[in-house]
Amino acid sequence: MKIVPLKAFKDNYIWTLRNPTHAAVVDPGEAQPVLDYLAAERLQLAAILATHHHPDHVGGIAEILRSHPCPVYGPKNEPIPTLTNPVSEGDHVRIPELGAEFSVLDIPGHTRAHIAYYGLESLFCGDTLFACGCGRVFEGTPEQMYASLDKLLALPDQTKVYCGHEYTLANMQFAKAVEPANAALRAREKRDQALRDRGLPTLPSTLGDEKATNPFLRCREPAVVESANKYLGSRIGDPVSVFSAIRQWKNTF
Ligand SMILES: [Zn+2]
Repeated sequence: MKIVPLKAFKDNYIWTLRNPTHAAVVDPGEAQPVLDYLAAERLQLAAILATHHHPDHVGGIAEILRSHPCPVYGPKNEPIPTLTNPVSEGDHVRIPELGAEFSVLDIPGHTRAHIAYYGLESLFCGDTLFACGCGRVFEGTPEQMYASLDKLLALPDQTKVYCGHEYTLANMQFAKAVEPANAALRAREKRDQALRDRGLPTLPSTLGDEKATNPFLRCREPAVVESANKYLGSRIGDPVSVFSAIRQWKNTF
């Protein structure tokens, strides 16, 4: 089985799991890229997985279902009318046609009931964790978002991170402002810039990469704490306050 990105809108990826006969798609915000790919590759659609209710992640589902009826998994507590299989923490998603199984993790913050799918050493995390960044906190609290990122941090370093958008290079500009002396970040920027120069995605990254370079996962690092304090002009030390400060800073960066 392989995992391929289909581009949608300006910078969304619809992650497509496929073998020679079947496919499943994650967060199809648009139908056309999926319909074109399934037709070109002569694949049968086995499942649709949604991470959260934003239109750029679920907007294509109804149209895809018209010609490719299949189960639609997604967060139990979000308004997604096309869901057939609402899921939450502790549930498992099995896609026998692909020999794939995922555990569902609740990771609220960006939206009220955002979920991630973890399996095959891969994490589909929508708009919660980005390469070198994280999603905006729209419906939850900074405490919830921090706890969600902390939950993802507990997964193994080799976990491949498939997030919803190609934001990596822009995120790195901010990450460098937070941690100007982070050598791993500089090396990663060089590598990812080279990928973008060739028109390739910077994703998936690995959780190991994120732990070394993503400021939102590094709220206990002295350099990140110091930058948060400089931004706020105050003295804070607890990781949730540090997270909240750098999230706020990034919004205006
Ligand atoms: Zn979103």
